[in-house]
Amino acid sequence: MQRLWTPWRMDYILSNKQAAGCVFCNKAATPDIDRENQVVARGQTAMILLNIYPYSNGHLMIVPYAHIDSLTGLGDAELADLMRLTSLAEAALRDSLAPQGFNVGINIGKAGGAGMADHIHVHIVPRWPGDTNFMTVVGQTRTIPELLDDTRERVARCLAALGYPRDETTGTVMLM
Ligand SMILES: [Zn+2]
Repeated sequence: MQRLWTPWRMDYILSNKQAAGCVFCNKAATPDIDRENQVVARGQTAMILLNIYPYSNGHLMIVPYAHIDSLTGLGDAELADLMRLTSLAEAALRDSLAPQGFNVGINIGKAGGAGMADHIHVHIVPRWPGDTNFMTVVGQTRTIPELLDDTRERVARCLAALGYPRDETTGTVMLM
């Protein structure tokens, strides 16, 4: 399998502060296993991945490559990329899952409810009327990998339909 170019700028990722043992840093630095890691898409400074413990089907996270614990630690270009990828995630979820609303949020710090407080990330959760009880059930149930793989493919296809290329080996969408 041939790759014509390496779009995710590993030099950029590796030049940023990375933390050993951080799940997000590990995923950022291993694009070859994006499929296993449920990374859907990569931009210049951030990536979109599935939450493997979702509040609902289609629960995505947008994660900067840099190991930073707050918005104030990000530069203007990284902040813009983070919001651009959040917007593209919203678009892809609209097209793939037809939700009627969204929750978009950032938990900063342990006191703010962050499960991974050392590495900031944006949650985007698609919502449907009357899904609250369903979400409670799903939140306590481990989602089967096949469902995550299916969701990754659906979201990736919708991003590709917006005009972005996919890596032919990993299926990752390149949001450059
Ligand atoms: Zn990290």
